[in-house]
Amino acid sequence: MNMKKQRSNMEYIREERKWKVLNETFETQMDAWLTVKESGKICNEDYEFPDFPSQEELELNTYVDRLKDMLSDINSNLKELLKKENKTYDSFVYAYDSLTENLSEFFYPLAHLKSVKDNKEIREVYTNCLPHLSEFYSNLGQNEELCEVFKELREKEEDPVRIKVLDEALLGFKLSGIGQDEYTKNKIKQISAKLSDLSNQFSNNVLEATNSYKKVVEEKDVEGIPEDLKERAKTEDGKYEFTLHYPSYSAYMDYGQNRDIREELYKEYCSKASDTNEKIIEEILELKHEKALLLGYENYAQVSLEPKMVDSVDSVIDFLTNLGNKSKPMGDLELKEINEFSGMEIKPYDSAYYTTKLLKENYQFDEEEFKPYFELESTVNGLFSVLYKMFGLVFKKVEEAKVWDPRVSVYDVYRNDMKMSRIYLDLENRSDKRAGAWMNNWESRHVNERNEVKLPIAFIVANFTPAMAKKPSLLTPREVVTLFHEMGHVLQHICYEGNELSCSGINGIEWDAVEWSSQFLESFVYDKKVLSMFAKHYETGELLPDEMVDKMVENKNFHSAWGLLGQTTYSMFDMKIHSNAEPMNAEQVQQTLNEIRSEYSLLETPEYNKFQCGFSHIFAGGYSAGYYSYKWAEVLSSDCHLKFVKEGIFNDELCESYYNNFLSKGSEEPSMEMFKKFMGREPNEDSLLEYLGIK
Ligand SMILES: [Zn+2]
Repeated sequence: MNMKKQRSNMEYIREERKWKVLNETFETQMDAWLTVKESGKICNEDYEFPDFPSQEELELNTYVDRLKDMLSDINSNLKELLKKENKTYDSFVYAYDSLTENLSEFFYPLAHLKSVKDNKEIREVYTNCLPHLSEFYSNLGQNEELCEVFKELREKEEDPVRIKVLDEALLGFKLSGIGQDEYTKNKIKQISAKLSDLSNQFSNNVLEATNSYKKVVEEKDVEGIPEDLKERAKTEDGKYEFTLHYPSYSAYMDYGQNRDIREELYKEYCSKASDTNEKIIEEILELKHEKALLLGYENYAQVSLEPKMVDSVDSVIDFLTNLGNKSKPMGDLELKEINEFSGMEIKPYDSAYYTTKLLKENYQFDEEEFKPYFELESTVNGLFSVLYKMFGLVFKKVEEAKVWDPRVSVYDVYRNDMKMSRIYLDLENRSDKRAGAWMNNWESRHVNERNEVKLPIAFIVANFTPAMAKKPSLLTPREVVTLFHEMGHVLQHICYEGNELSCSGINGIEWDAVEWSSQFLESFVYDKKVLSMFAKHYETGELLPDEMVDKMVENKNFHSAWGLLGQTTYSMFDMKIHSNAEPMNAEQVQQTLNEIRSEYSLLETPEYNKFQCGFSHIFAGGYSAGYYSYKWAEVLSSDCHLKFVKEGIFNDELCESYYNNFLSKGSEEPSMEMFKKFMGREPNEDSLLEYLGIK
């Protein structure tokens, strides 16, 4: 059932009152720590988390051979297990889970290092592992004998959680080609191996393209860029260097007044890897289509939707069309405002610049002014305080844990005096780290076949502007949102209280519900009560002034229709290219994107824009025919958020109900059931528009 695991792989009370709330929270948290230390009633205080291995400890020269040995051991142990008589859920499923558990513990560190400490050697070994893993999982998914055992167990099973576990495993078997003839099964296996290789090539091409470009500019061209950002771009010979890494790229796009330079940067950014990835996209689409047909579906989107919350391609298209149509009129007004402000018809490489300027001049909103109030460490501590207040979670720093970079910090998490998980935070940008921000899990809570409880381990990785010798890392409001977002994923992973590996935390959550927990937590960043808990000036200690708080809240919905139209475009594009009757070639892919843009994009896109060639979510991640998931899950999270706003965000009863009906359940129940238990009704699509202030 780790096949699934393989698939599923963030008001301010006025002046003195503010301080009081802040300090109270920290004190309460300190008390909680002491309780944990001194009460002596922690039954699992001695629980030892595994150390995260360094590159040396992975012994890369023999790594692939050891992986092969491990896979062959698992295969022979599985054969033995299948021979056992009188199989029951208890005697079979837990033993089966243990077989693949060691494998993910072994391989995860390499996969993680590849994304946070990338170098040629790691990349090579990782690439060499992929065919073996892909073959192993394909064989597992196509093991008829294994599938038969699950079918037999399913017939006898009465426990609803176990029924869900078995049903999902059986769906996994179906999607791996079980029940097909040998030729078809082999073909499906080959396709899966090739697809895994192609996604890896796709993301390597994007990373290489990002690293291979830099633009050096003169002093006159950085006029208007905030000092802090200029300082970071400064080269030894007194010039300024901008790259395609997002913090550097966005610094120029937001503030750089030389339009030609903006256009050049934009052109490079949106045509990343277009020379290599356009061809890869064609191959990916063709293989996915072929696989879908072999499995008895009409197109790949149907395969992708099978385990998701939303039931059909038409439902997704209807949902997106509704969002697009309802936000277009407001989007047009937003564009009109920018055009009037800039005195011209803006181009895509002008939009960030004039938006920043418009916000500053007409709304007196300047993201840079907020940064001193969001010093990284105090923001992280503030987030911990919020989680303590809402869900009683206590984060205790672990100084002695081994880490892959000195800037990484590690915490053990407690609830009701019980140690429940470990988390790693790797938040500052480095050149050897993959772009963006994400959460990942290494271990998941479950009870193993020896009846031992295993505790979850999760990672948050981000690319925030790094601390410098004289300056700590200071976050923009957007980055604070990112931090809360990723922590939302972590919450769902670490709060699971059950025993089943397949339902543990983020394992087994429907893909289109995965962003519910993250976007829910993210929505609290704009709440005055939340901000009052940590937003203080890193030098003076002054709390974020009231008028700035009001501005931040006002800014949340600034040009939200524009943003929603962008997401609608990407989601629609993803669904259309994966649901076509025939696999599309590069030209048709471009044509489809152009058609959707003509309907929902506010600005005309230049021909050189090859956005699709950097769309790693769908071509190198797990979002193919699933990018709409962000918006669908945002319906769920907005709906829940509005309930908290109405009934009080620190309302104990409400927080407890959210914890019990949702966070602690992992995927033991379908997300729709958990949603209905918490909300008392079905999701309301218009909540998303209300949350974004779109009328
Ligand atoms: Zn997310």
